[in-house]
This record gives sequence, C-alpha cells and structure tokens, in this order.
Amino acid sequence: MSEHATSTDVLVIGGGMAGLAGALALRENGAEVTLVERAPEFGEVGAGLQMAPNASRVLKRWGLLEKALEIGVQPKHLVFRDAVTGEELTRQTLGGEFEERYGAPYVVIHRSDLHRVLLEGCEAAGVKLVNDVLVEGVETVDGRGVAHTAAGVDYSADVVIGADGLKSTLRPLVAKDEPVSSAYVAYRGTVPITPTTPKTDLEDVIVYLGPDCHLVQYPLRKGELLNTVAVFKSASFERGEEQYGGVDELEAAYKDCVPAVQEALKNLATGIRWPMYDRDPIENWISGRMVLMGDAAHPMLQYLAQGACQALEDAAALQDASIGTVFTADGINPSGWDTAIRDFNGARAGRTARVQRTARVWGESWHVSGLARTLRNLLFKSRRDNNFQYNDWLYGADGDGVPTVAPKRVTEGAAA
Ligand SMILES: Cc1cc2nc3c(=O)[nH]c(=O)nc-3n(C[C@H](O)[C@H](O)[C@H](O)COP(=O)(O)OP(=O)(O)OC[C@H]3O[C@@H](n4cnc5c(N)ncnc54)[C@H](O)[C@@H]3O)c2cc1C
Repeated sequence: MSEHATSTDVLVIGGGMAGLAGALALRENGAEVTLVERAPEFGEVGAGLQMAPNASRVLKRWGLLEKALEIGVQPKHLVFRDAVTGEELTRQTLGGEFEERYGAPYVVIHRSDLHRVLLEGCEAAGVKLVNDVLVEGVETVDGRGVAHTAAGVDYSADVVIGADGLKSTLRPLVAKDEPVSSAYVAYRGTVPITPTTPKTDLEDVIVYLGPDCHLVQYPLRKGELLNTVAVFKSASFERGEEQYGGVDELEAAYKDCVPAVQEALKNLATGIRWPMYDRDPIENWISGRMVLMGDAAHPMLQYLAQGACQALEDAAALQDASIGTVFTADGINPSGWDTAIRDFNGARAGRTARVQRTARVWGESWHVSGLARTLRNLLFKSRRDNNFQYNDWLYGADGDGVPTVAPKRVTEGAAA
C-alpha cells in the first residue's frame, strides 16, 4: 500500500471532472478527502468543452473561474446554422445581458485545461490523490463505506462518492441497467488557427444542423486552436455491426452539407471514434453510505453540452447538503451523512433527469429532415436573440440550486 491512509472521512472513486469537483467541494467543507483513480496518471482525452454559466458559477464559488478564464475563451455568440444551406437559424449573444442574467460567463475550454484547473484546486486544498487504484466494489459495514480494490487493499470512509463515469462499476449497486446507444458517433479534433484558417465565426460557437448529422466548431486556448466535433448517425449501427461508425461513414454522412462543413471534416482526428451513449434516468443514487455523482449517476447525450456542467452542479449541491448535517459549527458529525446524501440525491435527481431527457429530444430536433426540418428552421428563425425562455431553466440559479453567492464555509473548526 502507498503512503496514503486507507481510512478517511470521504473517499471519492474516479478522477474525472465529477470526482475532482466532488472531492474539492467536500474538502472545502473541511473533510479529509482521498480520491482514487484507476489510471496511472490524471488527465482527460478529447478536445473542447462548453461550460455554461450554471457550471462557471460553481467554479466562481471555489475561486477557480479566473484560472479557467486565463486559458479558456469567452465566445461572443452561440449560432445555429442549417448545414445544407449554411443559412443562420438563430443566435444567442453570450456576453452582456446573458452574462448578467446568469451571474457568470459562458466559457469554452480544452478538457485537459479544465481538468487541470480542478486537479490543481484539489492539490492546493489538500485532497489526497492516488493513482493506479481500481475499485471493484463497495459495501457498507458498521456505518462506513468500504471500497475493495483489485490490489486487495480496502479503503474505508464515512461516505463513498462513486464518480466512475458512464460504465460505472458502482452503479449496479443501485440500478440494473446498461448504457443506451444513440446510434450516433462523434469524431473530434483541435487544430492550430493559422492565417489561412477561414475567418468566419472564429469568435463564436457554431452549430451546423443537418439530416442525421451535425457539426460544432469553436475556438480554444485564447483563440490559438480551433475545436471541431462532427456527430452522425451510423448506418452500420443500424445494420447491427459491432464496430460501427468508421471513417468511411463520416464523409458520406456530410455529403449534402455546405463546403464550410465539408472543409471542417479535415480538422478531425480520425484515430478515435466516440460512440454516443446515455442511460435512462434513475431516482435513487444511494446504496448504504455510497452515493453516485456525475456520469455514473446521470450520463447524458452531449447535445445540451451539460454532462460536465451537471457534474459541477452535483458537487456544489453535495457541498451545500453536507453543511449543517455533517459539517457543523461543533465539528464533523459523520452520522449526518445519511441525511446529507439523501438531501443531495433528492435535490439533484429530478433536475438531472430533465436534462438527460431534454438532451435526447433536443438532439432529435437537430437531425430531422424533410418537413420537420422546414418547421424546425421556421421555429428557430422566429426566435430573437436574448429571448431567454429556453435557457432559464438550464442556466438560471433558481433551477439548479447553485446560488451565485457561495455558502459560508465551515472549514475552520470542522476540519479533521
Ligand atoms: C463528444 C462529447 C462532447 C461533450 N461535450 C460536453 C460539453 O461541451 N460540456 C459538458 O459539460 N459536457 C460535455 N460532455 C460530457 C462530459 O464530457 C462528461 O459528462 C464528463 O466528462 C463526465 O465526467 P465524469 O467524471 O462523471 O466521468 P468520467 O470522465 O468518465 O470519469 C470517470 C473516472 O473514473 C475512473 N474510473 C472508472 N472506473 C473506475 C474504477 N472502478 N476504479 C477507479 N477509477 C475508476 C476513470 O478512469 C475516469 O477517470 C461531452 C461528452 C462527449 C462524449
């Protein structure tokens, strides 16, 4: 066993965005927190990530927003275009009234950069971070969560946070379900922005909507990189092939799209394909002293760009639910965890289920053809910039329980 103690207040399983955010939130409250990750190093693969104000408000609460802004980009607009005609359908200005309304900016950031901001936040706060630990199961023994690892070492904690992603090992403790394939596949890529990069839209998030496909582009790293994501419905998935969505299908999927979209396909890294999965929502995330969060609890399709955002909301909600129950003015009260995780689960399951379901429907509306496409385009074009009726539930502070002002911390006196 390593130098790290195997007995702790809080054990977090998984070092993705959710696990790091959860660990930081509870460490901020004053807990001794150990986070274990199966990979030999912490990191993220993939390209860019959109962080809406409901998530950047959480970074603001922890004093990490400035760091994210140092390396991210604040796009000027979110623009939807028809991929076949190139016509603009609607746009949302992301500064000014939008930012004032939601209390924080819309940021696009490289995944590895956001991951690093959270990792450094954890390190600075004193979270114990341990790699090469594969957790095989968790049980609750005498009111404490016990995690069994592949190396034969057990970790025990007052509460175990299961943040082990879409294919979670811990989710079977609360649900007998499987990831659901959407039949869609994504390819992603980041390339340097050079003087020859087409100038159009380099300051915006652009979404091209096409029949059974879409393409998203936005700048990253202070405008040095261009991020491209292409998502299409796989014909070979429909035929029941196991390795569906190969590069051969990629170009065919976009053959009717405008040259700007076809050109953008050249920016993709075709070595990795990302089949798109989610799961059906579940109400209960708790088994004994183990509670799920992030993709382990509520994996969603990426059309609302909310998976990581919801993980950050989870962390803020867990932070709030444990103040006064576990972290009290008199110190840490471990028996308060039963109430805290129940309150957390209760506060979050309905909202994340709505985001999961809406992401599916929203994606469907992007990929329609024929009459449905004509009607979708008419509806989108009738929407005016700064019409917030479709945004408030998702980005507003009322919906998510994440206030713009941080709660009073109880670190002093409560820390172990
Ligand atoms: C194409 C695409 C685009 C997206 N765009 C956006 C976007 O713009 N905005 C947004 O908010 N979200 C977006 N998302 C969603 C977002 O990426 C995910 O929701 C988020 O990364 C999930 O984080 P997580 O920590 O819950 O899970 P993961 O990132 O999967 O992390 C789980 C971690 O647990 C570890 N682990 C797993 N099992 C074990 C075990 N048994 N023992 C120990 N460790 C274990 C894994 O190694 C991993 O590090 C997108 C997703 C995709 C696919």
